[in-house]
Amino acid sequence: MAKLQAKYGQEKEYLQAVQEVLESIEEVYNQHPEFEKAKIVERLVEPDRIFTFRVTWIDDKGEVQTNLGYRVQFNSAIGPYKGGLRFHKAVTPSMLKFLGFEQTFKNALTTLPMGGAKGGSDFDPVGKSDAEIMRFCQAFMLELWKCIGPDQDIPAGDVGVGGREIGFLYGMYKKLAREYNTGVLTGKGATWGGSILRPEATGFGALYFTQHLLHKAGKDIQGKTVALSGFGNVAWGAATKAKQLGAKVIAISGPDGVCEIPAGITDEMIDYMLVMRASNRNKVEDMAVKFPQLTKFTPGKKSWSVKCDIALPCAFQNELTGDDAKELIANGTWCCCEVSNMGCTPEAIHTFQSNGILFAPGKAVNAGGVATSGLEMTQNASHISWSAQEVDDKLHFIMQSIHEACVKYGTQPDGHIDYVKGANIAGFMKVATAMLEQGII
Ligand code: GLU
Repeated sequence: MAKLQAKYGQEKEYLQAVQEVLESIEEVYNQHPEFEKAKIVERLVEPDRIFTFRVTWIDDKGEVQTNLGYRVQFNSAIGPYKGGLRFHKAVTPSMLKFLGFEQTFKNALTTLPMGGAKGGSDFDPVGKSDAEIMRFCQAFMLELWKCIGPDQDIPAGDVGVGGREIGFLYGMYKKLAREYNTGVLTGKGATWGGSILRPEATGFGALYFTQHLLHKAGKDIQGKTVALSGFGNVAWGAATKAKQLGAKVIAISGPDGVCEIPAGITDEMIDYMLVMRASNRNKVEDMAVKFPQLTKFTPGKKSWSVKCDIALPCAFQNELTGDDAKELIANGTWCCCEVSNMGCTPEAIHTFQSNGILFAPGKAVNAGGVATSGLEMTQNASHISWSAQEVDDKLHFIMQSIHEACVKYGTQPDGHIDYVKGANIAGFMKVATAMLEQGII
């Protein structure tokens, strides 16, 4: 860590993600001198390569705009590079390095052969028209297409990149590459190679994982109150499944504030989340304007100020701080499953764990998204398309396997399960063993 601090002192998110993993694996690592001899950790913390490129496009006023684009190919020990693209004004190499690092372990947990990658741009989709989004995606692909391929690197969505953006990206990829293998991207439309249930998969998988965690602790989700953050694709999937399983979703949020829903979210509201995402306004207040009788909007507040049993961060890294964790606990929250990548700060995780709150980390909880991307790749490679039932069964199996891996590696001498350790050690052992077997490269 000291060496990385000296080298990458400015890259706060990246250092945070590495620190968490190294702390978790220290004991296991020291029991394997062969890992130390092959300098596995020193190699694993550095991405294989980072592509950086300029993306120039023309906005609706006819003005020329320039953004930066990136693809971080982090680790290919267990398969081709795989991970999403994030379009957000705050994107930096540090953010994408943290996400690519996390992705490497997450993908290892899925049981599928996928390496880790992440990419994106500091392009801000907020307030952009569909035509601007299309022109940006096309300009982004002008550079990205040379770096990717169905057996090399397979991007997908992340914050700011959903089905619409994947469509624009794929259209331009085809024109440039003259390759028509849809397996080069995942999260595609269902009529042109996309997997049924991929849009829902991150949220559905997160709730399946939460169910396993609760059952292991002798509890059930039925009738519990759930506060979640965000209203994008992940929050939408999580709200849908939470409601189906009999929980009551009582809060969603956005950068502008929190929208409380005391009687629980309705199907109409869940549908409206998609409209809000497509509008590019990024305002949760729109939900309160649409459903004034059933909701209460409070500007500047987070979902963590709402009394709930279960907290599900579904938006952005470090969105739940130590103070938020204290507020939740004071209000009676007893479970937090991180659905966003690194959604909780180290202080928040420490606060949850030292207060006996059931806590599980994003790389286990949200792995159903990329796992279903892996299932999409399998369908594309075999030129078939599975039914919703088939995909859902496989997603169930994968989330159960991830939970079992966390229990296997995370059960402590006193019997309690440290899901952070469990997920990190399980992912690390798989990647490290593969690296060892493939020699010094
Ligand atoms: N962006 C998602 C994640 O953080 C999905 C990546 C993918 O499907 O490749 O895992």
